Amino acid sequence: MRVLVTGGAGFLGSHLCDALLAQSQSVLCAANLLTGRMENIAHLRREPRFEFREQDVCHPFDFGKLDYVFHFASPASPVDYLERAIETLQVGSVGTMNCLEVARKHNAKFFLASTSECYGDPLEHPQRETYWGHVNPIGPRSVYDESKRFAEAATMAYHRYHKVDTHIARIFNTYGPRLQINDGRVISNFMRQALGGEELTVYGDGSQTRSFCYVSDEVAGIVSLAGSEEHLPTNIGNPGEFTITECAQAVLEVTGSSSKIRFEPLPQDDPKQRRPDISKARQLLGWEPKIDLRTGLQMSLEYFRTAVHTTA
Ligand code: NAD
Ligand code: UDP
Repeated sequence: MRVLVTGGAGFLGSHLCDALLAQSQSVLCAANLLTGRMENIAHLRREPRFEFREQDVCHPFDFGKLDYVFHFASPASPVDYLERAIETLQVGSVGTMNCLEVARKHNAKFFLASTSECYGDPLEHPQRETYWGHVNPIGPRSVYDESKRFAEAATMAYHRYHKVDTHIARIFNTYGPRLQINDGRVISNFMRQALGGEELTVYGDGSQTRSFCYVSDEVAGIVSLAGSEEHLPTNIGNPGEFTITECAQAVLEVTGSSSKIRFEPLPQDDPKQRRPDISKARQLLGWEPKIDLRTGLQMSLEYFRTAVHTTA
């Protein structure tokens, strides 16, 4: 099998490359390094079944025969996609269409890294795949939310009209080693602040919730879904739900830090609650996450310590 991972130099994409290589596949990683880093794939430099191409997938491309296209290219953290709004819209729309076209041309399977952001600020809780979402279509987050919703629509259209064998994961907040230390996501911010002796910045009153999935659990779910017959979107995440204040407490405990908490304004349209209903993935794939938040933070500690030290 020759598989393409777009965005493979990013956090999740690089772990996916590792998992696919471990399954004896040949992996072509294509990324434009907008938010990804060569360090994430540096350990694969001498792997004969691994190849890196610097490529913006918004420009048409063809790397020859492929069996599977995993489309992970896109800024993912709110700080990144708000800074690169137009690029985010482009990669979700034009980039996704280019990747789908490559899959169609080579009769390859296709996998879309979609997101819980498709549910917006959800009125249904926990979120099931049947929920259509509550998204502000013109708010600041819409550049990400709507481009991913478009990407899902395009993927389903290629499945329906061109019979491409497509799969869609709605990924919920994932963390672990290689999460960029300065990407502004809550786990990277809190770990950096706790380890650097700075105050932890809690936005709003900290009562909003998120559900955090450790990266190895997330990738196991993705790989399992990729091998399934399911074409409709499937939630892949950890249903353990924490307020952001509880998340800050967990980080303080795991790091042993005595940092204080500082409250800052809540960003516009910040979802108040988020938790995946993973009944479908459990039933369909026999998959569920194994690593709880404190264990996952512990497992990420060494990475974050080194990252804080290197960027200081
Ligand atoms: P990341 O920012 O670490 O990696 C994204 C990668 O895509 C980077 O290598 C970046 O340079 C690349 N990229 C961006 N635009 C590109 C373009 N036009 N052409 C080629 N490469 C491009 O992000 P991540 O956390 O690894 O997320 C990967 C995917 O998973 C994204 O599609 C994201 O929407 C999705 N996702 C992630 C999470 C999460 O919690 N990490 C949650 C939901 C969905
Ligand atoms: N957040 C926070 N402090 C930070 C970064 C984020 O309180 O330093 C909050 C943010 O407002 C949101 C949650 O943590 O409610 C998760 O934010 P993140 O950017 O990680 O991802 P999101 O789930 O919003 O895409």
